[in-house]
Amino acid sequence: MKKINKNFIVRPRNLIAGWAAYDNAINNLFTLKHWPKNPSSIYSSHIVTDKLDEIYNLKCAFCNQIPKGSPLQVEHFRPKNGITGELHTGYYWLGYEWTNLLYACGNCNSTKGNNFQLRVGVARIPGPTIIGTSFDLHDCKCFSKILRAEKFMLINPEIDNPDDHLFYLADGRVGFKTNRGEYSIEKFGLNRDELYLNGRKQLLDSIIEKFARRLERYTNRTRSFSEVADDIIDIIKEEILAPIENNGSFDHFRYIVYCNYDKYILPRFGIPAQKCILNFIFQELKRGLIVKLK
Ligand SMILES: [Zn+2]
Repeated sequence: MKKINKNFIVRPRNLIAGWAAYDNAINNLFTLKHWPKNPSSIYSSHIVTDKLDEIYNLKCAFCNQIPKGSPLQVEHFRPKNGITGELHTGYYWLGYEWTNLLYACGNCNSTKGNNFQLRVGVARIPGPTIIGTSFDLHDCKCFSKILRAEKFMLINPEIDNPDDHLFYLADGRVGFKTNRGEYSIEKFGLNRDELYLNGRKQLLDSIIEKFARRLERYTNRTRSFSEVADDIIDIIKEEILAPIENNGSFDHFRYIVYCNYDKYILPRFGIPAQKCILNFIFQELKRGLIVKLK
């Protein structure tokens, strides 16, 4: 999971008071006092998804992967229709709220479900703030005083920096630094097979395997040092740097591996000469290239 920079102020034009469909949807929520069976589709319209496509670079907020097959879904960070383990309506009044809408793959979205535990000692907001005959729309924003006071457990990459809570182990499994990190790994399923064994671990193993094959050619003297160095640079560019530049799947993991090759790559090589070549190439590359993590 990586930090997402989202502009909370510039909202999609159909999620602003004054847009007729938005006003109707909010009035309907106000009357019903729960999430409707047939909600307005404004929160998942192309006006919203076009913005989210741009912000998320077509990747899931939680697993950092471009979904295979099914499209990304507009996900309500605070659940709109009930809370697991509690008698609560869910935050129905945030159903069309831009600062509550994230982008997730179907698997992460369904794993998360209605889980939304709060930190110890924090009281759940029972319902919306009301002004006259409508919701106080300011109190619906994630940066309002009332929502900031309701401290939650799940990591929100639009608000939190996931790197403060999570890290990658040497084989690509996600580890935690905090209780919130531990809870988020479980509720988003960040180490499910699709993401760990068949995702990050497979990706790293395949890069290591490609390096090993090229280095072997130097060890048995079928290729010169400079030829092998060129081969390895090509692998690094293709498997690590290009996907980072192009915002590909697992770009955050690739970036961390690149920056910390001494932790993720070098220990996988036992022969000192091979380790030395890899170290030299990574150092040279890092001297000459600046990689931006968007
Ligand atoms: Zn996902």
